[in-house]
Amino acid sequence: MAAARALFLFDIDGTLVRRSGPHHRRVLEDAVRIVTGHETTTEGIPLQGMLDRAILTEMLVRAGAPSAMIRRSMPALVSHAQRLYLRADVPPLHDNVCPGVRALLRKLGRREIPAALVTGNLSRIGWRKVERAGLRRYFRFGAFAEQAEERAGLARIAIMRARARGWVAAATPVWLIGDHPNDVSAAKANGIGSIGVATGLATEAELREARPDRLVRDLRELSLEELLG
Ligand SMILES: [Mg+2]
Repeated sequence: MAAARALFLFDIDGTLVRRSGPHHRRVLEDAVRIVTGHETTTEGIPLQGMLDRAILTEMLVRAGAPSAMIRRSMPALVSHAQRLYLRADVPPLHDNVCPGVRALLRKLGRREIPAALVTGNLSRIGWRKVERAGLRRYFRFGAFAEQAEERAGLARIAIMRARARGWVAAATPVWLIGDHPNDVSAAKANGIGSIGVATGLATEAELREARPDRLVRDLRELSLEELLG
């Protein structure tokens, strides 16, 4: 396969889909209870832009769990949360797809420009959500919460992988699209282009402060032709 003209990395929550239901929060809480016996909640934790393992850690810190115990429990928490999500009755999320997402993914597909996920979701949760939204077929691969400590590390994994497979060349432009200032920072940390999209909880003003290369209200406003140059 010849190297593509660009690589697009997508956050999931607030970027591809929004209001995807309580299941994700619930499985994190259930996993904590099953693995550690602690009754915890995600209430009050600013989940937006956070990686799932960081959320699990914060839930347990707030419950007073010692850090050694949190570290020890993490592999089991990760596997339980994912298993529970796959078993959860997640409804179809077609109506929760953000405006402009499908059209953009179709355009990328037609131009054979690879799209990948870069998300704070654990892998099986992320893939399931995207599948329920009817978007699975557009994504070639992804980098997920269990693979790095921070979003910048996830973006780096995705870029390296696309290069290693020969899907893009070292000089190929890479864009990261996300709804949170953390997505913008992750792009900047990797020296790639950042596109802030105000379809999540962060306001346009909050996103603007992170200084993305492009800022749009929703992805219908994004001009792919202009990006590809
Ligand atoms: Mg997001």
